[in-house]
Amino acid sequence: MNSIEVLSRKIESLADGLPPTTIMEVCGTHTHAIRRYGVRQLLPKQVRLVSGPGCPVCVTAQEDVARALALARLPNVTLFCFGDMMRVPCGTASLSSLRADGADVRICVSPMDAFEFAREHPLREVVWFGVGFETTTPHTAALIEAGIRSGVKNLSILCAHKTMPNALRALLGGETRVDALLCPGHVAAITGADAFAFLPEEYGISAAISGFEPEELLLAIFALLKMQASGTPKLVNAYPRVVNPAGNPAARSLVETYFEPCDALWRGLGEISSSGLSLRPAFAKWDAGARFSMEPVAAVPASGCRCGDVLRGRIEPNECALFGQACTPEQPLGACMVSSEGACAAYYQYEGAGI
Ligand code: SF4
Repeated sequence: MNSIEVLSRKIESLADGLPPTTIMEVCGTHTHAIRRYGVRQLLPKQVRLVSGPGCPVCVTAQEDVARALALARLPNVTLFCFGDMMRVPCGTASLSSLRADGADVRICVSPMDAFEFAREHPLREVVWFGVGFETTTPHTAALIEAGIRSGVKNLSILCAHKTMPNALRALLGGETRVDALLCPGHVAAITGADAFAFLPEEYGISAAISGFEPEELLLAIFALLKMQASGTPKLVNAYPRVVNPAGNPAARSLVETYFEPCDALWRGLGEISSSGLSLRPAFAKWDAGARFSMEPVAAVPASGCRCGDVLRGRIEPNECALFGQACTPEQPLGACMVSSEGACAAYYQYEGAGI
């Protein structure tokens, strides 16, 4: 018997004496891994996994996507973004469609690509569309630092970075009802495991930080069920080979140098206090929003798209009437169908359109 079978059996026997238990994962990479490895199918019926707001592209507010489109339409701007952002629909357009129409929109693997381009093209205004959680923000901070050190003048940031703790507070303080949380291993590698200690302390909910291999996910789920069984919710670090209690102080210090907390708009969750990051006033000239005098942009999601309900764990992707019909990975109507880490895209890829 391999380790996955052993863990599955242990989970099954533990869950036997438990009431139905709902566990939410709040990490896009977990969402993808759970579908890819068929983790749900390895669990007994009374243990239900639901996806939460963990995919960076999915939670980026439509208004921020609209601001990126507005910048990309400016003739002297070159906009850099991660590949997944390209196909997020916004009205009748996307960054991808703007590029097809001649806008200078470029995909990069690292924000440093934007820095190199800015240095080589001093007559272009280069904008980095920064999205993502604590894992990716240090890269944007490093970009600003490189810009300051080199004296480059034509580089700025459209900042839509987010932080996880207050989003979880908003979720758990609202209508979402879950029994336990699988916490994101990547984020915890930066923040430290202790950043999630508030979950049992404030909400009496069990939490386990998990890695991304099937054994690691099952181990974290087993830890959560053990806490459910004992009635003693705690935080368990089930990913100790990567995550320590304090995280990565160098990365956190880099971020704190350039960014400060701000209220942020999340797709499907609305505005959440202190859940985003904005540039500190001393670095305002690196803010694309200020540099280009951008007005707030109203943006309406596609009619019928239920990304908000998916991101809150209220529905499964296939409960959206558009799933697999009008909305597919080839022609996504909502952000959750764009990224491979999106709940709708992962469901479609691994469980099909008709399930
Ligand atoms: S299936 Fe498409 S339209 Fe429906 S919630 Fe998911 S992304 Fe939105």
